[in-house]
Amino acid sequence: MTFTPTISPENWQPTGQRHLVKLAIVGRGFTGMMTAISLLKEIDRPFHLVMFDPNPKIDGGEGTSPSAAHLLNSRVRDLSIDPNTANDFQKWLEEDDRWQVTHRAGDVSIEHSFVPGEIFSAYVYHRFSEALRARTDVVVQVRLESVTGIDRHPENGFSISSADQQTTRFDAVFLATGYGLRCAEKASPTPEGSGSVLVIGGGIHAVDRALRLLKEGETSHVTLISASGFLPQSHTRAAVGPVTSGHPLPHTLRGAFRFLREAAKVAEAEGSGWQGIMNGFRQGARDLWQALTPAERSRFKRHVKAIYDSHRNRLPPEHYRRLFEAIARGRISVKKGKVDRIAINGVLLSTAAGLELVPADRTIDCRFRPTDVTSPLFQSLFTAGLVRRDEVDLGILVDRCGRAVGSTGHFSGLFAMGPLGLGSLPDIDLVPEIVLQSTAAADALTVWLDELAEASAS
Ligand SMILES: Cc1cc2nc3c(=O)[nH]c(=O)nc-3n(C[C@H](O)[C@H](O)[C@H](O)COP(=O)(O)OP(=O)(O)OC[C@H]3O[C@@H](n4cnc5c(N)ncnc54)[C@H](O)[C@@H]3O)c2cc1C
Repeated sequence: MTFTPTISPENWQPTGQRHLVKLAIVGRGFTGMMTAISLLKEIDRPFHLVMFDPNPKIDGGEGTSPSAAHLLNSRVRDLSIDPNTANDFQKWLEEDDRWQVTHRAGDVSIEHSFVPGEIFSAYVYHRFSEALRARTDVVVQVRLESVTGIDRHPENGFSISSADQQTTRFDAVFLATGYGLRCAEKASPTPEGSGSVLVIGGGIHAVDRALRLLKEGETSHVTLISASGFLPQSHTRAAVGPVTSGHPLPHTLRGAFRFLREAAKVAEAEGSGWQGIMNGFRQGARDLWQALTPAERSRFKRHVKAIYDSHRNRLPPEHYRRLFEAIARGRISVKKGKVDRIAINGVLLSTAAGLELVPADRTIDCRFRPTDVTSPLFQSLFTAGLVRRDEVDLGILVDRCGRAVGSTGHFSGLFAMGPLGLGSLPDIDLVPEIVLQSTAAADALTVWLDELAEASAS
């Protein structure tokens, strides 16, 4: 889906405004679009919003995904982007017969279904268009450029430099760069239906990619390389809500995960499944994370994160069945090891037994890419002291509204949204958390703008 600017600042005449607030969103993936929707709905004064991204397409899917045509790994009922209407996505789907006819999955009701990413993207874009239509006092400008640097402006606010060498001043900036600039998957040199293919990654994207390669006949065998050896677990057939035991969650890493293991074992023995227990655990994850010591957080990243993620990001049951069927039939093999180097003829893998060359005609990298702190944009932000890394090096330091913590420790109008805050806020890469954060950020911005206005009036 492509959109072009329909309103430009040149043909827009603000009336009676002394200072039109100028806001920037860097990145138009899901997080950027969601932030824009929240600003349009929540900010009670006219503003000029510029959205930067060199990518004209809003497929919004996770950055590593080459296509939005794959099934999302969350159910319809968990993908509402209206914080006040839990079933907003379901209602939107039900209003349009096209989706129901094409995508109704067997006897599973619509709220429990899994739908392709392109449908979710269409929903997000539709809600964005509605929010924009309702604001005739707001200018939204789309710039198809990457941002190469952000600095403090000599007067106030920020200077944004973009790839076309322009520098523009903004009052507040929302970073929504997620997994970084997207790079297209390289064309395969392999003739159709033959050749050995390696897919690097043990997460849902890697599994999804491997299953599609087999389904589309691009190869007859895929080797999945998982650094931890874990693969994603399955969702239950019908959604289960969060299940909690009523006992408080221990506030140490060891205690919390022993608690989780035992509760899940009981649930499995009773036949209710561990998924509800995991959903309940995740509700307390943010408080637990805040209570952990820096050493425990590092231990979590090193030893627990991979297994936590494999139970958190689950496959639709049908995909899980296909994965294990493919493994049983020898069409997918799983290899545990850390990638040392990717070469044109395969991958150099570091395994428990030492370095091993795994030959391949084609290699597809579907690994999770954390915030690219080496990019010119992030280097400029560090140099200006506008952001700091979190202590486990998963992203940058933010509070629950996405306010970035710079070297002064004071909020200066810079937000880092969604997955950029993964080291500070567990699960902030998922739709429900991004929705709540974007509303909280819009509210925080309103309060901050009011404070600035009061300060300048006094
Ligand atoms: C189609 C879709 C499917 C999803 N599936 C699920 C799901 O099933 N369950 C769930 O909970 N969540 C899901 N999500 C959310 C998902 O898990 C991700 O966390 C989320 O998509 C991250 O989005 P993002 O915008 O932060 O990052 P990205 O998707 O990586 O987008 C970042 C954007 O920033 C741009 N960018 C990067 N650097 C720059 C720069 N220097 N200048 C300008 N632009 C830049 C990139 O070009 C890119 O467009 C989905 C989202 C969508 C829309």
